[in-house]
Amino acid sequence: MSLASDEDGLLRFVDWLLRARPVLAAAVVVFGALWAFGFMAAGPALAGFVLISAAALLMVAHGLATREASTPVTPLVGASEGALVEAVLSGLPDAVVALDPHGSVVALNARANALAPALRRGEPISLGLRNPEVLDAIRRAGANGAVERAEFIVRTPVECWYEVVAVPVTPVSGAAGRLILTTFHDLTPLRRVEEMRADFVANASHELRTPLAALSGFIDTLRGPARNDPLARDRFLGIMEAQANRMARLIGDLLSLSRIELNEHRRPDAEVDLVAIVRQVIDGLQTLASDREVEVQLSVSAERVTVRGDRDELIRLLENLVENALKYAASGKRLDITLALAEGRREVRVAVRDYGPGIAPDHLPRLTERFYRVDVGESRAQGGTGLGLALVKHIVSRHGGRLTIESVLGQGATFTVHLPVLSRR
Ligand code: ADP
Repeated sequence: MSLASDEDGLLRFVDWLLRARPVLAAAVVVFGALWAFGFMAAGPALAGFVLISAAALLMVAHGLATREASTPVTPLVGASEGALVEAVLSGLPDAVVALDPHGSVVALNARANALAPALRRGEPISLGLRNPEVLDAIRRAGANGAVERAEFIVRTPVECWYEVVAVPVTPVSGAAGRLILTTFHDLTPLRRVEEMRADFVANASHELRTPLAALSGFIDTLRGPARNDPLARDRFLGIMEAQANRMARLIGDLLSLSRIELNEHRRPDAEVDLVAIVRQVIDGLQTLASDREVEVQLSVSAERVTVRGDRDELIRLLENLVENALKYAASGKRLDITLALAEGRREVRVAVRDYGPGIAPDHLPRLTERFYRVDVGESRAQGGTGLGLALVKHIVSRHGGRLTIESVLGQGATFTVHLPVLSRR
C-alpha cells in the first residue's frame, strides 16, 4: 500500500469520526454512567460502547458512499469550462450573467457587477437583481428553452435603458442542464437620440408655426377690416415680410445644420487663411456695427494663418459670433476681435469679446443646444432663430477644434474658437 493511500484512509477515518461525533459522545456518556453507577460491569459496558460506535461509523460511511454515488457524472460547468465561460464573458461588450437552471449565478462579467453590485456567484439572481420582468424572462427562458426578452430601466444616478435577453445554452455535451446567458444591452444612447429627434421636430415646428400663424392672421385682416385702408395695409405687409424672412432664415439655418451634421465626420481638406476670413467677416458686418454704434477693434498676431477648413463654413461661424455680439451686446459699445497663436503655435484662437450684459453661468453649458435662448423674446426681436451657436459648435467640431465661452454677468462675454494650425507666417 502506498503512502498516499495510507494517508487517504486515515483522513477518511478521521472524517467519519468527526461526522459520527454526536453518537460517539452520547454512547460514552450513557455506558460511562451505567458503569460508574454500578448498573453494568466494565466489560459489557465497553462491549456495548464498541457496538454502538461501530454501527454509527458504518452508517456515516454508507451515507457518504451513497451521496458520492448520486453526484452527477457530468457537472453543469466543469472547472475548465468555468474558466472558459469567465474568460468569454469578460471579453463581451455588454453586461452578462450566466445562470444555472435554478437561477443561481454561475459566472458574471465586470460590467454585470457594475450594473448590479449585489450579484454573487452561487447565489440566486433574485437576491441581487429585484426586477420582476427580468426575473420572469429568465424563468421563462429556463422553462421553455427559448430566447426571452425584457426591458430593464435604471433610474439613478441617471436614467439608463437596457434590453435584457435571456438565452438558454448547453455549455458541455451531456451536461445535466442548460445555462441561461442573460445579456444587458445598453439602449441609452439610442433612446437619447430618439428623444433629441422628437424634441427637435417639436421645436422646429413650433418655431415655424408662430410666423405662419401671424401671416395667416394678417392675410385675414387685409381681406377684411383693412381692405380699404392703405396705411394699415402697408404696415401689415411690412410685418408679413419680416415674418416670411424669419421663416426663410429658420429653414436656411435648419438646412445648414443638417448639412454640416451630415459631413461632421469628414474633415475639410482645403487650406484657407483664417486672417483673411476674419477681416472679410468684419468688413461685411461694418454696416450693422455702425447702425448699432459699436466700435469693432481687430488685433491679429500673424499676417497669415493657414488652417484646413471649409471657407464658407468658417465665414458662417465667425459671422454668427460677431452678429450675436452686435445683437445682444451693443450696449457695451465695443467689440474686440483677437486672432492669436497658442499651444506652441500649433493652435489658433479667435476670440470675440463684447462688453454687453454678459450671460449667467447656469445658461453657459446649454447655449450651444438647438433653440436654446437666454431670452426668447429678445432673440426673436433680434431676428434670431436659436440655431446660431448650435451651427457654430458643429462647424468647430467638424474642423477638429473647440469652442469656449466665458462670461461674467454685467461685464460682457468672450466666445473663443480654437482651431489646429497648418502653417503660419
Ligand atoms: P439666436 O438665434 O437666438 O441668436 P444663438 O444660438 O446664436 O441663437 O444664441 C443663443 C442665445 O445665446 C441667444 O438667444 C442669446 O440669448 C445668447 N447669446 C449669444 N451671444 C450672446 C452675447 N454675445 N451676449 C449675450 N447673450 C448672447
